[in-house]
Amino acid sequence: NLRVLLRARPEGAVEHGHFELREEALPSPRPGEALLRNRFLSLDPYMRGRMSAAKSYSAPVELGAVMEGQAVAQVVEDPTGRFRAGDWVLGGQGWQRFSAVPAGQLRKLDPDAAPVTTALGVLGMPGTTAWVGVTEIAPPRPGETFVVSAASGAVGGVAGQIARRMGAKVVGIAGGAEKCAFVREELGFPVCVDHRAPHFAEQLAAACPDGIDGYFENVGGAVQRAVWPLLNDFARVAFCGMVAEYNDAEPAPGPNLMQVVRKRLKLQGFIVRDHPRAFADWPRIGGAWLREGALKYREDVVRGLENAPEAFIGLLAGKNFGKLIIEVT
Ligand code: NDP
Repeated sequence: NLRVLLRARPEGAVEHGHFELREEALPSPRPGEALLRNRFLSLDPYMRGRMSAAKSYSAPVELGAVMEGQAVAQVVEDPTGRFRAGDWVLGGQGWQRFSAVPAGQLRKLDPDAAPVTTALGVLGMPGTTAWVGVTEIAPPRPGETFVVSAASGAVGGVAGQIARRMGAKVVGIAGGAEKCAFVREELGFPVCVDHRAPHFAEQLAAACPDGIDGYFENVGGAVQRAVWPLLNDFARVAFCGMVAEYNDAEPAPGPNLMQVVRKRLKLQGFIVRDHPRAFADWPRIGGAWLREGALKYREDVVRGLENAPEAFIGLLAGKNFGKLIIEVT
């Protein structure tokens, strides 16, 4: 069983040496568990937090343990009898080829209803995050300007499409001309501004002539600093994540919070797993939109579990283009 283990905790940027690839024996399922062959592994920014011992909303991965992650898998054997060999399920665990998981925690996937990888991206945890953030945390009103950062990504791409359906003027922010073209032409955001281009802050201001009423924060850093002065009175900000800062050894100096008072801003952070109902609602709602062709997405599939460390390092630097998935070969 090829596995990717956490060898050392990064202080700053993640490097190859923080991981170790090791061939180990197949797991033997305990009572109630099914043996799974992981086929597609989701790589997500939150995994950077699990590599660190800093206090967070989840416990870190232990040194020497397999990296945490969710996978779409095929059942090898299920002694509980719930699943048949070959069934596709969501709930495979870890950066590894095989996992043994309580059968009751698995969700069966119908490969004819939607490509199975969508359970990790557009219809999975990232899509659900977008659904919660837009509809519950910072819902836009029709005609308002709603800005989404990391707009070509797994969460941002869905967030902007939902906000558009709610009648907002959606402005995306993404890194590079190619990602911006995709956000406009494929995802249908009317505007997308390139945060890597010169004069980004001026271009963002020009793209938001009426200021910003809602902001879906995925990135932090320089992108956040450009958004902040454009926030209107009573703007709402959904703090979903700040991926540009996850490798920082020291927390970055924050914005001047007196602005929150002056502009009567409402800021709220959220963690998607606190919203269990959304994990049932979103695959149903998003799945219907997907079948109608009304929900677009892009996946960045990298072949080979041994390439997971490299792909993850790239995710924290914006090298992925769409939902990052490892095809476990
Ligand atoms: P994405 O698919 O959006 O990939 C990450 C993107 O972030 C990159 O493609 C890049 O986009 C941008 N990025 C990465 N590093 C940098 C950097 N150093 N500077 C600027 N931009 C950078 O990932 P997800 O959609 O999975 O995650 C998006 C955000 O949502 C993350 O902050 C994540 O932590 C958060 N999240 C929060 C959840 C919650 O429950 N609160 C749940 C799931 C995700 P670009 O090149 O366009 O800048």
